[in-house]
Amino acid sequence: MTPALSPVGRFAPTPSGRMHLGNVFAAMLAWLSVRSRGGTMVLRMEDLDTQRTGEEYARVLREDLLWLGLDWDLETEPQSRRSAVYEDYFRRLEEQGLLYGCYCTRSQLHSVNAPHLSDGTYVYPGTCRDLTDAQRAAMNRAPAWRVKVPDRLWQVNDWVQGTYVENLATDCGDFVVRRADGVFVYQLAVTVDDGEAGVTEVVRGMDLLSSAPRQMYLQELFGFPHPEYAHVPMLMAPDGRRLSKRDRDLDLGILRQRVRPEQLLGTLAASAGLLEKPEALSAKELATVFSWEKIKKESICLTEL
Ligand SMILES: [Zn+2]
Repeated sequence: MTPALSPVGRFAPTPSGRMHLGNVFAAMLAWLSVRSRGGTMVLRMEDLDTQRTGEEYARVLREDLLWLGLDWDLETEPQSRRSAVYEDYFRRLEEQGLLYGCYCTRSQLHSVNAPHLSDGTYVYPGTCRDLTDAQRAAMNRAPAWRVKVPDRLWQVNDWVQGTYVENLATDCGDFVVRRADGVFVYQLAVTVDDGEAGVTEVVRGMDLLSSAPRQMYLQELFGFPHPEYAHVPMLMAPDGRRLSKRDRDLDLGILRQRVRPEQLLGTLAASAGLLEKPEALSAKELATVFSWEKIKKESICLTEL
């Protein structure tokens, strides 16, 4: 691994409810990675889905992070207020002739296409790539916008997962950057936001590993350097289930009533392989023993709290 000299990391929570332990776990590792090397943390609210998100949730998220001792140096503009910025990058793709409108319905996409390598979405076969102007006009509705992908390999040298390789042409296909309703998708927004904030390392859940090649491609098109990646294992409940927002007993609203932040962080750190056994330690104390080499690669079962 080749960490940047002055790392810049980020928290990028979706303000749609209380953090659950899986979110806390990824946030803790993102913070430890950066702070253990004297770097900068950036906070950004990923609230593209304005139906599900809100400022009240964002306020509680900030308060929860500070309760945990996971602080940040600056908060950048939330995604919901950056449509004009995303539009500018979208136009750049258009000017390069890389965009086209896709009129396929969800059921059409599912019926003919093979599943993507790992995340369950479908490999897009380019159905709408070469529609004529007359064919487009006949559709009589707004399309989603896809970016053309090159036939070439993208390699993620992940700090936790090792090497992950994808050919976007065969494993993903041309992908959507703007939905038919005009909303920009996560892949475009996250690339622009991380790039403009100068983020040098992206620490997040393993479920997003397969989106990294798409973001690396967009980074290249927009002229941003590639950040380092660390996709951390998903946290499982003590009985082996994957934690989700439905596990209300493990969200911070409930947990804060019965545990101290040091106990919570120490338990997560021990579950991850950072400590030999759970002990109550602050985020600052954990930063002194942090190293990516110690973090387990496979799913991590939470020790009882
Ligand atoms: Zn299509």
